[in-house]
Amino acid sequence: MKPLGPIPPGFAMIDGELAIGTRTASALVAEAGQTPLFVYSTAMIRRRVRDLLAALPSRIAIHYAVKANPYWPILHLMSELVDGFDIASAGELALVQQAGIAPHRISFAGPGKRTSELEAAITAGVTLNLESEGEAGRALDAAARLGITPRLAIRVNPEFDLKGSGMKMGGGAKQFGIDAERVPALARMVIASGAEWRGFHIFAGSQALSAAAIIDTQAQALALVAQLAEASGAALPHCNLGGGLGIPYFPGDEPVDLAAIGDALGEAMAQLPPVLAQTQFCLELGRYLVGEAGVYLTEIIDRKVSHGETFLITDGGLHHQLAASGNFGTVVRRNYPVAIATKFDAPVQEEASVVGCLCTPLDRLAEKGGFPRAEVGDLVAVFCAGAYGASASPAQFLGHGPAAEILV
Ligand SMILES: *Cc1c(COP(=O)(O)O)cnc(C)c1O
Repeated sequence: MKPLGPIPPGFAMIDGELAIGTRTASALVAEAGQTPLFVYSTAMIRRRVRDLLAALPSRIAIHYAVKANPYWPILHLMSELVDGFDIASAGELALVQQAGIAPHRISFAGPGKRTSELEAAITAGVTLNLESEGEAGRALDAAARLGITPRLAIRVNPEFDLKGSGMKMGGGAKQFGIDAERVPALARMVIASGAEWRGFHIFAGSQALSAAAIIDTQAQALALVAQLAEASGAALPHCNLGGGLGIPYFPGDEPVDLAAIGDALGEAMAQLPPVLAQTQFCLELGRYLVGEAGVYLTEIIDRKVSHGETFLITDGGLHHQLAASGNFGTVVRRNYPVAIATKFDAPVQEEASVVGCLCTPLDRLAEKGGFPRAEVGDLVAVFCAGAYGASASPAQFLGHGPAAEILV
């Protein structure tokens, strides 16, 4: 038997079934009218943000990385809970605008911004995190054509990365940001252009569980932005320190020690160098805010045995939950937290693999896990599905269509 990932805290059990808030999985499926279904919990998202605010120094604002989950009711909820929104395309810009989020709360990072996207962002009045000198030139040209003063920041590609992170986005050659040694010259050019100077953005990696690694990266980021601000010859209005706080997905993963991170940031904020004295800081977080608050529910359509291995075949799969199948940024496939939602209180009775309905052997939601005996019609729950689920999976693949989503 292969171990399953840890089920996040905060879920309930009603009549032996998994419950999200006050409703059972089967009641939620009945309400949505279909499986597969993503259920997101308002209460869990609120609790997570509350815990963050309690742990972090008040000087540090929280931004939501929209790509983690752009479902509009979540954007709506987030507009009440966090300060800023980080987007990565004109499509995400349209989503946050539709959610009524004011432009001064939005920043736009990401390589390969088209000129039309730069124009949309400048017209809307959102901050552009410039990813190259070429993009800086195109942004300034677009602003001149439009007759609008652009709000510009520079994304820095630091020399360091976030140790132990699932996805490294800094250090060495990267398509993200501008190599640190070339940043001061570009910053001076941007400031001299008359643009509204918004400062620096450093994002060194994602999905880290080690507080020590996160603290170390944040300290390096603060030292680097101080040095870059000095070299740019201007006080720094804003600094996005990145994020990288991960969530436990796999057997043995432990939650990050948020208190330790908050304490270290508190100390760092108390001893900032003069060039950062007026700087506003933020952390940008995606999965840490919403990942554990989502569950993917899928119904068992068939049960079969092949060469002694039991397969529970569901109506879901990697077309909605690519990450749980192990095909989104993981090297070795390990099991997400997965359970039989309709037999949530039952003991483990057998070893089974939960697979999806796609015609590819990659479509495995759980491999050789220990489960109660599940039958056709039972619901499977895949946890940690609140981030990089519906929007980060190939929903068109094999034509089964998208999953439903509901925020409760
Ligand atoms: C993806 C991304 C994030 C969010 O990452 P999480 O691991 O979901 O917190 C934040 N900032 C940038 C620049 C990103 O590319």
